Amino acid sequence: MIDAFTYANPTRIFFGYGKLQELPALLSDCGVGAAVLVCDRFFAAMGEDLREKTPQIAAVFSDVEPNPQLDGIKETVRLMKETGADAVIALGGGSSIDTAKFAAACACSDKTPDAHFDGAAFTAAKKIIAVPTTAGTGSEVTAVSVVSRGEEKKTVHNPVFQPTACIVDPALTMTVPPRTTLMTGLDAFTHAIEAFWSVRHGALTDALAVEAMRVILANLETSFAEGTKEARTAMAYGSLVAGLAFSVAKTAGCHACSYPLSMYHHLPHGEACAFTLDSFIRLNADDRLEGLAKTLGFSDCHALADEIIRLKTIGGLRMRFADCEGELDIDRLAKESAEHMLMQNNPVRLDEAALKKMFEALQ
Ligand SMILES: [Zn+2]
Repeated sequence: MIDAFTYANPTRIFFGYGKLQELPALLSDCGVGAAVLVCDRFFAAMGEDLREKTPQIAAVFSDVEPNPQLDGIKETVRLMKETGADAVIALGGGSSIDTAKFAAACACSDKTPDAHFDGAAFTAAKKIIAVPTTAGTGSEVTAVSVVSRGEEKKTVHNPVFQPTACIVDPALTMTVPPRTTLMTGLDAFTHAIEAFWSVRHGALTDALAVEAMRVILANLETSFAEGTKEARTAMAYGSLVAGLAFSVAKTAGCHACSYPLSMYHHLPHGEACAFTLDSFIRLNADDRLEGLAKTLGFSDCHALADEIIRLKTIGGLRMRFADCEGELDIDRLAKESAEHMLMQNNPVRLDEAALKKMFEALQ
């Protein structure tokens, strides 16, 4: 029997290879009058090119950092106020989209970005148009923003961060290097499987999660090794569908562990999630997960976990603490992972002792 569930995702999705060429028309369609485009330095030239071709783009901020800083958000808000922008366009990976979300909400407030970073509530946001350039974050369809002030990093959930629209154009992912393709693809797979086993899952998020996992497993290796248009397009779709699943069901243990792993061992987000992914597949294995493994074409959960290890191996991803930077403190990692709010979504209750055992096996 199908249990009761609630599902909503108000973001309009424009998907297609080359879709970004329709940007002026899509912005008009979304009622955007004037917008500030945010991106990182890598996309600065493309940002300027888009400004020339798109009458609605009033200014470009091209200095988003990998862990987006509040300073970049302040500059975006300043540009939005100066140009009277009613929207912000994020061109990039998670960092640019996170910057756009926080800035769009700050631009509607009398309070400073610092005050909001310290917890002041948001009441509204300008329009947010997300244009992801990697197949991984799913941030284009979620209401979460991760921002930093110096070393202090905060994950903020707020309905006002939900993008008005996203333009998912797989052509933008064609130049992503192979290793990053593999890491972001495994991040997307982690979003899907965690949405599937999250205690907050429902029939519709299950359907989305299974579709995402099926597409990602069928295309990740080709996307990594050959980078074909077909595989890249499938990965962009898989990542988007995983985003639609976890925007409601949320993520769980792998993501809870990923934050201390990124902080103390400097692993990029996707690599940090993949670091414990196969361990969590084995720890969370139950009848339901065994059924999933079979649906995905594996004999059991262990075979699925082994496939994750194989993918990490071909991409040269780090799989042991011995290969990572930073001093290993398993007690601290276990404590911070156990205390992270996302750990509460994990289907198996894992306390500090259980997590310690998991991390010890990864030395
Ligand atoms: Zn993730």
